[in-house]
Amino acid sequence: MNPSDTTPSFPSRLPNVGTTVFTVMSALATEHQAINLGQGFPDFPCDRKLIANVNDAMLADHNQYPPMLGIKELRDGIAQKIKGLYGHQYDPDSEITITAGGTQGILTAILACVRPGDEVVIIEPAYDSYRPSIELAGGKTIAVSLEVIRNEQGQVASYEIPWEALANAIHSKTRLIIINTPHNPTGMVWKRTDLDRLADLVKDTSALILSDEVYEHMVYDGASHYSVASHPLLAARSFLISSFGKTYHVTGWKVGYVAAPPTLSKEFRKVHQFNVFTVNTPMQYGLASYLTDASHYLNLPAFYQAKRDFFRAGLSHTGFTLLPSPGTYFQCVDYSALNIPQAKFNEADFCKWLTTQVGVAAIPVSAFYDQATESGVIRFCFAKQEQTLSNALQRLQSL
Ligand code: GLN
Repeated sequence: MNPSDTTPSFPSRLPNVGTTVFTVMSALATEHQAINLGQGFPDFPCDRKLIANVNDAMLADHNQYPPMLGIKELRDGIAQKIKGLYGHQYDPDSEITITAGGTQGILTAILACVRPGDEVVIIEPAYDSYRPSIELAGGKTIAVSLEVIRNEQGQVASYEIPWEALANAIHSKTRLIIINTPHNPTGMVWKRTDLDRLADLVKDTSALILSDEVYEHMVYDGASHYSVASHPLLAARSFLISSFGKTYHVTGWKVGYVAAPPTLSKEFRKVHQFNVFTVNTPMQYGLASYLTDASHYLNLPAFYQAKRDFFRAGLSHTGFTLLPSPGTYFQCVDYSALNIPQAKFNEADFCKWLTTQVGVAAIPVSAFYDQATESGVIRFCFAKQEQTLSNALQRLQSL
């Protein structure tokens, strides 16, 4: 008998989970040499200065375990940044923890507070890690959907927060509510009044909040990002998640952070220390000195808005219907009005066809829903060099 045939089988912890859509679409793009506007990552280099900072940290022998919560210099810098932008003073020692990227912060926060049977409310379309993370904790996902607003021709025009459904979903068993602003995949941005409304919904409950704000520095047209940190009542019950990958064009470095009140951070760290223990040291030093120059994140809206506007201008010469993109580096389009037979495809098939036959990879928005929800909308990532966007547009303009 082949020894590998003796590997015991066991019931999966995540029976319904396959490989993430981002990995699948990136592989398909590579296989077909398509321009990859699917998975969200920049195709341009990060600042050499940031690399030099990390290099310097390694040469200065910052190569052993850092403190479990992250190096003090980086936690101090984050606390200062949050105070400056959102007005809330987090204590770097008891309230800020460095994580191996936003996704680890999300999983760890969920494992830290969700017990079997607890309900966790998410708003779909939702980033695809939320649901499996809740499942691993034994929690029950309660999903409400963004309201889809359509134009007169029936194409998706925008999305709105489903306040009524949200109010109905929150009750005494709600342990956690996950929000995400700026929102992946729709680009939607919460307003100040939205935070007020959420605070109103939770004020008499014991529901905690996990606020995924990894695109915090990508809000356009002069608008502001409203962090839970800008709202004292919400800050007092929230895990605020952010990441350096998006902000500094280093998605592969996997360094992020979680800011939360001391009682939440204490539980968070109990899980964190047995999950990753610590996050790599030289990157933390490199990021800490880079963070002292605020221009690196303050310039980001203008940088990405130019890309967004260039991409949207090009898309306006196609048959796609453009949705608004007030934040993130994503642009959603409705393809149902295209005058081609593929306009009738479901979103996943349309993306496969677009990747293999037109040569441009995109992500189906249906992948952000648990139950197949088809609205004819796909997501492009515009965090690309102008030449990449222009090549993609040339291909898309045949549609
Ligand atoms: N957040 C990125 C996106 O939405 C991808 C992250 C990942 O590949 N898991 O495209």
